[in-house]
Amino acid sequence: MRDLIGTCIRCQKDIYCTDGFFNGITLESGNNLCLVCKDQDPFVEILNRLLEAEKSGVAVLDDLLKTYPSSGLEDSFVQVKEDESWSCQGLIHSIQREGGTVSKEIGDFIEKVRALPSLKEKLALLNKGQAWVARKIDEAISYGMDTRTRTFLLEMKKRHEQNIDKMEQHI
Ligand SMILES: [Zn+2]
Repeated sequence: MRDLIGTCIRCQKDIYCTDGFFNGITLESGNNLCLVCKDQDPFVEILNRLLEAEKSGVAVLDDLLKTYPSSGLEDSFVQVKEDESWSCQGLIHSIQREGGTVSKEIGDFIEKVRALPSLKEKLALLNKGQAWVARKIDEAISYGMDTRTRTFLLEMKKRHEQNIDKMEQHI
């Protein structure tokens, strides 16, 4: 007995029930994942790399606020930090919604920014990091996902592009 049950949200392959065994899992969102994507989900991998980078981003902005308390850029630093924190929360919710395990790691981006001597150099590297995030989101968007996850990722990309433009003026 082989019955077609549905389609894998990630790879779009058909999922069957064979002799009473469902060859996939159903997520809380109601979407199905095939067993291959459940074991090794390339989409969740990208979301976790993004989360690690965004956690590092929050730390970078904390550092900038402490190190340059009167640069005139404090309001921008606070706002970018809020966007990085918002991204972390959204990524955590997305990873859980998509059936993944949330990474506890933090990216090494903070160390690279700390190693630079001047504010201009730090802001330039920050913008390179933000551009990497936008490219990574484009990569993530190519996979199938819950509509809420897609809406969040597109908004996250928009905020990163706006923050790149904002910081570009000070480099
Ligand atoms: Zn699949």
